[in-house]
Amino acid sequence: MSDINLYQKTKILFYRQKMLPLRKYEFYGMTDIRIGNGYDVHALAEGLPLWLGGVRIECTFGCVAHSDGDVAIHALCDAILGALALGDIGQHFPDNSDEYKGIDSKILLSRTMALVSEKGYRVGNADITIAMQRPKLAPYIVRMRETLAGVMGIPADAVSVKATTTERLGFVGRGEGCEAYAVVLLCR
Ligand SMILES: [Zn+2]
Repeated sequence: MSDINLYQKTKILFYRQKMLPLRKYEFYGMTDIRIGNGYDVHALAEGLPLWLGGVRIECTFGCVAHSDGDVAIHALCDAILGALALGDIGQHFPDNSDEYKGIDSKILLSRTMALVSEKGYRVGNADITIAMQRPKLAPYIVRMRETLAGVMGIPADAVSVKATTTERLGFVGRGEGCEAYAVVLLCR
């Protein structure tokens, strides 16, 4: 499926959700909300493409992974699955399956969002922190937010992406790997 179709499909799902009639708890001024958190880590190696938050980063190294290794999207998917209490990304998209070899993680996020819709929820907001010693990720942050928001069918101001180094400490600081943390709020 092309990215364009993917975004349109997610958008349609999003608008369908918005048209759902008021539910009982909304009528009483209550909202059903769920919170989820996700964490992911990948080793880094020279000569691989680096994808973060759905965006290709100019870099001589990238994540070692079965998929495209987008650590930020993987943490985000895990946060969403956590909020739904539906297990983790490895259960839904096994890393020993040929279907997911080299897969664009935006497709994994889109499929995760389909589960959100199935359960009658929508994403309220998401907050992601990427820990990486280099390169500087600041120039890519806005594009990551817009890309993730596009796949999730929510406004870009509901998606936060932050980047930090670990002050040269640990495996991240030594440039051996990168990690990402995500929290997400689902509502219906
Ligand atoms: Zn991963």
